[in-house]
Parts: sequence; structure tokens; C-alpha cells
Amino acid sequence: MSSHRLPRIVIIGRPNVGKSTLFNRLLGRRQALVHDLPGVTRDRIEQESDWWVGGRKYRLLLTDTGGLGGEHFAEEIRKQVEMALRDADAVIALFDAQAGLTAADEELVGELKRKGVHRKAPVYCVVNKVDAESHEKLVSEFFALGLEQVLTVSAEHGRGIDDLQEAVIGGLAPELTEQAASGDSREEEPARVPRVAIMGRPNVGKSTLTNALLGEERMITSPIAGTTVDAVDSLTELNGKPFVLVDTAGIRRKSKTEKGVEVLSVVQAKKALERSDVAILLLDGEKGITDQDEKIGGLIQEAGCGVILALNKWDTQKRNPKFTQEMAAERVRKTMAYLNYAPILFVSAKERTGFQDLGELIMEILHQRQLKIPTHEFTEWVRQESTIHNPKNAKFFLCHQAGKYPPTFICHVNDPERVHFSLKRHLINALRERWGYMGSPVRLLFVRGKSREKNPFARK
Ligand code: GDP
Ligand code: GDP
Repeated sequence: MSSHRLPRIVIIGRPNVGKSTLFNRLLGRRQALVHDLPGVTRDRIEQESDWWVGGRKYRLLLTDTGGLGGEHFAEEIRKQVEMALRDADAVIALFDAQAGLTAADEELVGELKRKGVHRKAPVYCVVNKVDAESHEKLVSEFFALGLEQVLTVSAEHGRGIDDLQEAVIGGLAPELTEQAASGDSREEEPARVPRVAIMGRPNVGKSTLTNALLGEERMITSPIAGTTVDAVDSLTELNGKPFVLVDTAGIRRKSKTEKGVEVLSVVQAKKALERSDVAILLLDGEKGITDQDEKIGGLIQEAGCGVILALNKWDTQKRNPKFTQEMAAERVRKTMAYLNYAPILFVSAKERTGFQDLGELIMEILHQRQLKIPTHEFTEWVRQESTIHNPKNAKFFLCHQAGKYPPTFICHVNDPERVHFSLKRHLINALRERWGYMGSPVRLLFVRGKSREKNPFARK
């Protein structure tokens, strides 16, 4: 029998792309070994790590290769690639979306190709620091590197990590996957506790709803395994299921005397959204929608969170025959058309009505996000749909799902300029019709490029 060994995953990349941040994130730990200065020398770090993919636990050996060459970057590249060639069963080549593609990145990839690392182990082109939707478009230049699989992550905020783990496990040689699938088969994956943020402009009823949700169910005092709860967030229950209520802009600490002077802090809102899976955007059912609501909705969409629109203070309208739920919903849809995928609830935080289905709805949004569409199916589908509506005659090559949180798709096209905005809209509408993704923003990226078959750097 062959000796039992753990698959080795080696992370390489120029200084400051976020290797040690990703390393810590993949370990599932918070204690970080992050230095802000480039070229900080550190020993190669190796650590066993357990990943849960598809309900199974895998044990792997993770290697971070930062600081190998000290001050000398050329030396570092050479050593990193050597280590990848010798040790790796999978290589994560890491890049920085916000810094863009640099000469050092190209040097690294050049060395990988020269040494033929990709013929020995799959090499993943992982573009880090994609913290928000506006960063997604920075990713396209990395396709020019000709690496087989491009994935986007935000190591700091934990976005795209599940997708990366799934890709790496899926790309391992079958005997290694078996060896990595460790442990007791009866062991259950620690439940991913949904993280929910209540958002909205001042006085819309956020504190009242928070208190209603927290007060209604018993507060859980013992932490659940696998859940990190920031000091200000609350672990609680909704319809019998655990969830974390993310503290948004210090709602719970807000003193009542400050009422009215609470200002919308974009920074705080973004911070809260970064650690949330789903946002409940509270709207004022009495006073109607304002510019501020639209702005918060935009922040939620940009962050990639799931979203539920909740028209609060509905108690003030329920006896108003001139303003039915249908009329209210129509108004919301009209003013916040870009959130047309978000379900609408009619609630009264004060009377504690209308949110009995909230827990179910949150779970359903998260459930629909777990879908992964196979590449061949998605490519075929895009080609088919583009025969229906395609005013500028864009020609599509390989199209694949690059991420699930939020659902993100990358379409290779002969010329991204030929993707008319109405074609993009058509594709997104048709995609939702076919696959759902209720409550989730969906991202479609168009990248100039040919199909993978024609890629000289693709693995045989
Ligand atoms: P390394 O030199 O490649 O190991 O990079 P580090 O992990 O030390 O990270 C370099 C810098 O990038 C640090 O300041 C990190 O906080 C920052 N960083 C890492 N990941 C992310 C990310 O996903 N988003 C953003 N905005 N910054 C990140
Ligand atoms: P926040 O600033 O978003 O946290 O809003 P608060 O929760 O402090 O609520 C602002 C005001 O709206 C308070 O006077 C609440 O009593 C009132 N309010 C909150 N929810 C409701 C509701 O469902 N119905 C009615 N009629 N008033 C509400």
C-alpha cells in the first residue's frame, strides 16, 4: 500500500498580494501573520488544515511561501517556483486586483511556465482583494496570463474562499482526494450560521426590529462551534434556527437622546455588509422611499450580499384602502428597480408582525446561492441565449461560473465592447428565470478571450 500523505497546497505570489492573509483565512483562523511592508522576511510557514467541501472533511497541508528571498525578489520567485515544483499537489498563484497586474506577477508566471509546474500540478490563478463588485472589472487583465482557472477572492473579508476550496479539492488527483478525505464519516460539518444585517436610514425602525428579533427568541449564550461572533454582533435564533445579527452602525448602542442626529455612515455600513450573508433593507412604509434608501440598496448590491426588502411601519397603512400591498410593492419596484430580485416583506417592527417567514426566506436565499452550474452547460446556455438577443453580435467562447458568494460568471467573448447593455440585461433576466438566485445579486463579467482549448498553457 502506498504511504498515506496529505495533499500539499502551495501559495505563491509576489510580496503584498495577500499570501499570509489567505493562508490564515484558509486555516480558518483569525490570528494573522500579516505585515504591511513588502519584503518582510519570514520563514516558510506550513500548517495542516481541515476544509469542508460538499459535506466532507478534507485534511491538507498548506504552505505559505512569503519572504523566501529576503530583499531580492528575483531570488524569491525562483525559490517559490522551485518549492511549488517539488512539493505542490496544487498551486495557488495569488495576485492583487487592486494593484493590477505587475511586472513581478508576469515574471512569476513566466518562471512557472518555464519550469513546467502546470504539467505537474494544477495552477490556480487567484485574484485577491476583490472586496466589492466595483473591483470585479479589475480582474480581466489577469486572464492574459493564460493560467487555466481564474478565481476571485477577498482573503481579508472571506469572499470566494468556499469556491477556491471546492476548486482545489476538485482538481486533486483522485487517490489524493481519497487520502485527504479524513476522519470520522459520521462527523457533521459545522453549520454555517447565516449572518444577517439590518440596514436602513435613520428612524426607519432598525432598533425596534432588532429588539423585536432579539427579544422574541432566547439569546444563545454559548457560542456555536465554527462561528466567530464579533463583540457587537448577537448570536440568536429565528424560527428555531441559529443566526447572527450583525450590528450595523452601532444600532444597539445608540442612545435614544441622540435620535435624529444619527447619520448614515457609509464606512460603518460597508463594514457590517462585509461580514453579512443577507441584508434586510428596512424601508419606511409610512413616509416612502428616499434617495438615502436607494444609496443603501446600492451599497448592499455592491457588497454582494443577499437582500430582503422590508416595508416597515405597515401597521400605519393596513387600514388604508387607498394603499394596498400590491400598490406599495409596485412603488418599491419602480423606485428601486435595480433590486428587482429582492423579495418584499410587509412588516411592523412595533407590533411584531409580518416577519414570521423571515428565517425561512433567509435560508432559501442562501440555499439558492449554493448552486454551481457546470461549465459546459453554462457555455451552451449563453450561446443559445445570445442567438435570441444580441444587437452587436458578440461571439461567445467558454463561459463559466467563477463564484457562488455572490453568484459570479465569467464569459469569454471576442470583444467585450460588443456586449450591448441590453444583452447583459437579457442574460441576467434569463439566468434568473432558469436558475433562480432569489434575493442575490448576480454578476456577469465579460472578458476578451478565446476558449480554453486554444490556451497553450492549459494542462493536458
Ligand atoms: P503577503 O506579503 O503576500 O503575504 O501579503 P499579506 O497577507 O501580508 O497582505 C498584504 C496587505 O494586503 C495587508 O495589508 C493585508 O491586510 C492586505 N490584504 C490582504 N488581503 C486583502 C483583501 O482581500 N482585501 C484588501 N483590501 N486587502 C487585503
Ligand atoms: P432606527 O433609527 O432605524 O433605529 O429607528 P427606531 O427603531 O429607533 O424607530 C424610529 C421610530 O419609528 C420610533 O419612534 C419607533 O417607535 C417607530 N417605529 C419603529 N417601527 C415601527 C412600526 O413598525 N410601526 C410604527 N408605527 N412605528 C414604528
